[in-house]
Amino acid sequence: MDFLRPADLAEALAVKAERPDAVPIAGGTDVMVELNFDHRRPAALLDLTGVAELAQWSTSDGTIRLGAAVPYSRVITELGEPLPALAMASRTVGSPQIRNRGTVGGNLGAASPAGDTHPVLLALGARVEVASVRGTRVLPAEEFYLGVKRNALEPDELITAVHLPAHAGPQQFAKVGTRNAMVIAVCSFAVNLRPSRREVGAAVGSAAPTPRRARAAEEFLAVELPWDAPTALADSLKRRFGDLVAEAAAPIDDVRGSADYRRHALAVLARRTLTWAWDEHLGSERTCA
Ligand SMILES: Cc1cc2nc3c(=O)[nH]c(=O)nc-3n(C[C@H](O)[C@H](O)[C@H](O)COP(=O)(O)OP(=O)(O)OC[C@H]3O[C@@H](n4cnc5c(N)ncnc54)[C@H](O)[C@@H]3O)c2cc1C
Repeated sequence: MDFLRPADLAEALAVKAERPDAVPIAGGTDVMVELNFDHRRPAALLDLTGVAELAQWSTSDGTIRLGAAVPYSRVITELGEPLPALAMASRTVGSPQIRNRGTVGGNLGAASPAGDTHPVLLALGARVEVASVRGTRVLPAEEFYLGVKRNALEPDELITAVHLPAHAGPQQFAKVGTRNAMVIAVCSFAVNLRPSRREVGAAVGSAAPTPRRARAAEEFLAVELPWDAPTALADSLKRRFGDLVAEAAAPIDDVRGSADYRRHALAVLARRTLTWAWDEHLGSERTCA
């Protein structure tokens, strides 16, 4: 197996163009598992750990450009304030060792329906930046997930960054697992309230062949939330939201949970996280007043 080690992004893209069969490796927390279990035996590995450009983040015009190879531990310590839901999701990934190595770019590259960052990226309307020697394109996260462990990357492309709105309003992520840590999601959910635009983002994970937005739930809330009234939300509203989120899912029965359980759990997560996000909205309204 060839081990290719580019020193910068230009070289990495040139190598990927020449060797489209080379499997990129960032933190290696998915790739090494596949190699160790002999599920994959690629002709070449393209090591991205020497590509400094991928391990940086920056802010411009209220948007954070998060390099594909920034590890979860840095998302938590450096970006918890502008990207709270991504930090929440990052805190649930694996263990400290996995969070030190694993990256959002790797989560996207693996494109597992159970990846923890996906619902957050969808709820925040994130865009995925990919590049090749042919140029750079930026696509909505929603268009990136094509199927179970399939994404929209062309063979000569690398994921270079994710673009996310900073301080996008109250947001939450929640995950159900069989225990608190080191667990693949049975199902997961993220919500983002954007009061200044009267918009809502909501997305489910581990409950369909791809992570997916709960569009009907988003539209319902955007219209029905009493945005300007400093009141607690009616139970009927929360219940309807939860039901619409559950309807957005297309789960299967598997070793981690049944389809029925996943739908039920998603409705509960949706109601719960909406309550937390709305309470935060009310708190900020009171602070502004
Ligand atoms: C013990 C353990 C626990 C885990 N727990 C969780 C969990 O709780 N939640 C969760 O979501 N995941 C979990 N994972 C899976 C894994 O940690 C995540 O998917 C992580 O985000 C992968 O990132 P990485 O940088 O290690 O990716 P890698 O293993 O390096 O790569 C993963 C895939 O992405 C591709 N890739 C990586 N970077 C790029 C790039 N820049 N451009 C194009 N393709 C790229 C690789 O070719 C590969 O196909 C766990 C894994 C282990 C081993």
